[in-house]
Amino acid sequence: MEKLLVIGGNGAGLAAAARAKRIRPHMDVLVIEQSRYISYSICGAPYLISGMVPRVEDLVGFSPESLWRERGIQAIVGVRAIEIMPSMRRVTTLDTRTQARATLGFDKLIIATGYASNRSSIPGASAKNVFSLAQHEDTIRLQSALASGAYRQAVIIGAGYVGLEMAEALATRGLSVLVIEKEPTLLGGIDADISELIEAELGKHGVQVLKGAAARAIQAGKDGVAEAVVYGPTDTVAKADMVMLDIGVRPNVELAAACGVTLGRTGGIAVNDHLETNYAGIYAAGNCAEAKHLVSGKAVIDALGTVAAKQGRVAGENAAGWKTRFAGVVGTCVVKVFDLAVARVGLTSREAQSHGFKSIAAKITDKTISHYYPGGAPITIKIVVDTDSRRLLGAQMVGGSDVAKRTDVIATILTNHMRIDEAAQLDLSYTPPFAPLWDPILVAMHAGLRALEK
Ligand SMILES: Cc1cc2nc3c(=O)[nH]c(=O)nc-3n(C[C@H](O)[C@H](O)[C@H](O)COP(=O)(O)OP(=O)(O)OC[C@H]3O[C@@H](n4cnc5c(N)ncnc54)[C@H](O)[C@@H]3O)c2cc1C
Repeated sequence: MEKLLVIGGNGAGLAAAARAKRIRPHMDVLVIEQSRYISYSICGAPYLISGMVPRVEDLVGFSPESLWRERGIQAIVGVRAIEIMPSMRRVTTLDTRTQARATLGFDKLIIATGYASNRSSIPGASAKNVFSLAQHEDTIRLQSALASGAYRQAVIIGAGYVGLEMAEALATRGLSVLVIEKEPTLLGGIDADISELIEAELGKHGVQVLKGAAARAIQAGKDGVAEAVVYGPTDTVAKADMVMLDIGVRPNVELAAACGVTLGRTGGIAVNDHLETNYAGIYAAGNCAEAKHLVSGKAVIDALGTVAAKQGRVAGENAAGWKTRFAGVVGTCVVKVFDLAVARVGLTSREAQSHGFKSIAAKITDKTISHYYPGGAPITIKIVVDTDSRRLLGAQMVGGSDVAKRTDVIATILTNHMRIDEAAQLDLSYTPPFAPLWDPILVAMHAGLRALEK
């Protein structure tokens, strides 16, 4: 029986295993996972911390037992892959509890080792009350630390989407929260005018934000407990009972690189359109692997669960014998910041410039339903357009919950490389309770057309 071995038992790895098993039910599919859990939602961690999700168990989908029972897929937890031998079609593993080594054979291999937090980039980050989120154990550790009620002042280093979600979660629990961001704007360098809307929302809920302030170190007392974060050019000290890190991620590629798997420019695993590495029959998927950005044309690590699941599915199909292409990504990301939904997709103005596009931006604020109908919410949409081709390059949105689905419309426009002249004529729906006659997306495209005419 043909053997598929999957390294990594979360988003990409399990999507791959499930897809391969469905296509080839007789394939022997084995997943190995170094932590104690498979199929966990780290995306749900902020909502567990805020209390929206009542129990930590709610964040876990399958256990190894239920995966076997319901899908016929074997998963072993607490087992780390420590060496891949491509020509011998073998992987050496280490039992993380007993330290016992073993060898597993494979015909096809999928590397889905995800990413790790960049903790080592901040001196002092190993202090006891410094937290980051990558695996389910991190969620459990953070939840039980907070349950003690000992923390009053949290400092969050980094205002990416995880930092912002955690700012809301910790503030909701009653902690006083300071967010320190080294860039001049939040959310990975979003445009300044959009960043200001997020900052206003955070301020409204008592979260303090410092931009352009690089954290230099975490100071701990003799007991190894962090007491303060040192930041900025003059080494300003901010007191902290706990520190949360959102300082970027790095793909987990050491295992792959050590056996000669080629890495790309981003530091992630380089793959072809079928997600195969430079070794035939060895695939990579999820946050350890590169993806093509359909707007910039460059390889990126788009460290999102949506991308991991889709890449996993494609890698699983190809490991099972199909020839499916992974089309690429447009960087679609949405985040809840208190009462706002904030999204970005494609390129920001600054990114467009850095990729060599000559671009204009246009911004509108409108209502999400007909003005005379009760309810609805204001929505701000900023679009970035290539002046040469008139193609849409990206959008940023702030508003209510329907920001998410309107962002998906923009993602579709970007995926299809549409010019804004075409996007302005999309046949979008209208009825007063749900959407206005001119949807805000169309209004934004019209603003873009006017800006191009200037
Ligand atoms: C707080 C938070 C919120 C998020 N919210 C969202 C969201 O709303 N939307 C979204 O799209 N994304 C979100 N993400 C990102 C999303 O969780 C990740 O992109 C996704 O989990 C990546 O899946 P993956 O399978 O590639 O990697 P991972 O989930 O990291 O899984 C990789 C697995 O491989 C295991 N592993 C690594 N090396 C080995 C080895 N040598 N041997 C055995 N096992 C190994 C790891 O233990 C890990 O379990 C969020 C992330 C965080 C931290």
